[in-house]
Amino acid sequence: MSSGAVDPCRAFNSTRCEKKDAWVNPVAQIKGFVPKVDSMVSNRFLRSLANLPATAVAATSVLIAGGKCGYSPGHGLFVCEGSPLAQQGGTTVGDVFLTNEISKDEVLDGTANSEALLSHETRHAAQWAGHGNLLYPILYGVEALKSTVLTGSYGCANWFEFDAGMQEGRYSSC
Ligand SMILES: [Zn+2]
Repeated sequence: MSSGAVDPCRAFNSTRCEKKDAWVNPVAQIKGFVPKVDSMVSNRFLRSLANLPATAVAATSVLIAGGKCGYSPGHGLFVCEGSPLAQQGGTTVGDVFLTNEISKDEVLDGTANSEALLSHETRHAAQWAGHGNLLYPILYGVEALKSTVLTGSYGCANWFEFDAGMQEGRYSSC
């Protein structure tokens, strides 16, 4: 299913639907650039290859901080705690979900009811791969800024969060 076919209001309270115009893939207008996010979900090998630089940055940040990692084989995602790069509820960089408010064990053993969260973060990993490790953080930053201006939250009108699933990403206050 292409993301454009999804009703962006599904995750919104009625007032947020007034922000509908904000739901545009920021690179959709660039001629000839088609982010291959869907194929990066299905092809895990390509995804990890494309994400090597970002994954290395994330892993290094965990190593330096003395954090700990585990691995979710079902998602092809490393789950690490202790990285200074982790923001708010957690941040995915390359193929690494850097947890913040919950421990890696709570994520991996499902204590934190984390199956939906892991699929959300795996979609972010595919976004990293599909847009390119250099371009993606810039685009995400632009969307986060736009979203903050519109809603006061970096995620509520952020196309990448919408694409990864608002409910799954626990944006319940949007
Ligand atoms: Zn997210």
